[in-house]
Amino acid sequence: MMLLNEEIVRLVGMNKKALMLLSEPDRVIHFRLRRHLPAEYGVGFPVHVYVVYHSAARGPPCKGGIRMSSDVTLEETIQLAETMTYKCALMNLPFGGGKAAIVADSQLPPEAKEVLVRGFAHEIRYELVSGNYVPAPDLGTSPREMAVIFGETHIRESVTGKPVGIGGLPGREEATGYGVATVTEHAVREFLGSELSDVTIGVQGFGNVGSWTCTFLSKKGARIVTVTDIKGGTINRDGIDIEELKKHVAQHGSIAGYVGRSLSNEELFKSEVDVIIPAAIGGVISKENAGEIKAKLIIEGANAPTTKKADEILTQKGVTLVPDILANAGGVVASYDEWRKGKSGTRTKREETYATIKETLLDVFGEVLVYASKEKISLRKAALALAATRLLDTMEGRGWI
Ligand code: NAD
Repeated sequence: MMLLNEEIVRLVGMNKKALMLLSEPDRVIHFRLRRHLPAEYGVGFPVHVYVVYHSAARGPPCKGGIRMSSDVTLEETIQLAETMTYKCALMNLPFGGGKAAIVADSQLPPEAKEVLVRGFAHEIRYELVSGNYVPAPDLGTSPREMAVIFGETHIRESVTGKPVGIGGLPGREEATGYGVATVTEHAVREFLGSELSDVTIGVQGFGNVGSWTCTFLSKKGARIVTVTDIKGGTINRDGIDIEELKKHVAQHGSIAGYVGRSLSNEELFKSEVDVIIPAAIGGVISKENAGEIKAKLIIEGANAPTTKKADEILTQKGVTLVPDILANAGGVVASYDEWRKGKSGTRTKREETYATIKETLLDVFGEVLVYASKEKISLRKAALALAATRLLDTMEGRGWI
C-alpha cells in the first residue's frame, strides 16, 4: 500500500520517475535466524526477519525501529519503512526510511529477546557496521535490545535508543511520548480551543510511547480517563493515577487487574473522551469502529493506526487527526541527535533533548497547518505533501530525477 495518492502526486508535481522511485522499497532483506530458543519460550522455529529500506533518497542511513511481534508481516514492515521515509523528510532529517521486523512474540522475556536480537545483529552485521541501517526501539524492543546491538558492533552511532551509559541520549527513551504529549497540548489549543486540563483523553497502549505520553500529559494537568494494553484496560472518569498505573504494570506486566472498572480495546475507541491517542499497533481505527468514535481529536502516537477507509469516515465526521509522521516523530528527532553525538562524542542534557523535540515538532506542525489551510486538505495529506516536496528536492539535488 502506497502512502502517496493521486491528489498528493498532483499537488506536489511529482514526475513519473520520482513516483517510481518512491512506489516500491529500495531493498528488502529476508532471512531466518539459525539460533533458536528453547521450546519453553513457545517460539516456533525458524524465526523470520525482515529488514526493509524503503527509500535511501535522504540516506544512508535508513532509519527505523526494530519491531518484535508475532503478527508482523513483510507487507507491514514495508509500510512502516515507507512511513519512516516521509517522517524523516518531514522533520528535515538526513535519513532514509527503514524498518526491521523479527517475527516473534513481543511479550518474550528480555533474555529470550536478547538471543534473537544477537542473531539478528550477526546476520546483518555489514548493514549495521557500514551505517546503511541504524535501528532504534519499536514495538516489542527497548533500550536493552539496542544495547545488545551495540555489544555486537561496538560502534556508538550504529544504533540509537541505547541506554545512556553506553552513549544513549538522555531523554531518548521518553522522546516519542514527550513529542506526542507536546503535539497533543498544541492540537488541543488549536483545534478544540481548550487547555489540557479541560479535556478528557483515552490512550491505547501503555508501553514506551503510551506510558510516557500519559506521564507527560498528566504532569501537564490532563485527565486521562481510559488506558488499555494488549491484556486489558482501565477506566476512571476522575482521571487515572498514571504513576500508580505504572507501578502496577511494572509489577504485573500489564494493566489487567488494575483497580477500578476494566475496559476492553474495543470499548476504548467508543468511550466518551475528547481526545484519543492510539499508541500500540497498526490498523486499530478501521471502518468497523471509526463511525462510533466520539472524540473530536485523534493524535497518532502509533505508526499507521488508522486505515484509509477509517480516515475517510473520520474526515466526513469532522474529526481532526494529527498523523503519525508528525505526532510521533519525537523519537526519530532525538535519534538524530544521538546518532550525531555518537559520531562526535559530545554529550547532551535531558532538557536540551526536550527543547529540540519541542522546537522541531512545533515548527513543522506550523508548516503543516499553513499548508493544510492553504490547500484545504487534511493534516495527513498536508504532512505527506510537505514531506514529498522535501524528498523531491533531495532527489533532484542528487540528480536522481
Ligand atoms: P512497546 O512494545 O513499548 O509497547 C506497546 C504497547 O502496546 C504495550 O502496552 C502493549 O501491551 C500494547 N499492545 C500490543 N499489542 C496490542 C494489541 N493488539 N492491542 C492493544 N494493545 C496492544 O511499543 P512502543 O515502542 O510503545 O510502540 C508503540 C507504537 O508506537 C508502535 O506503533 C510504534 O511503531 C510506534 N512508535 C514507537 C516509537 C518509539 O520510539 N518506541 C517511535 C515512533 C512510533
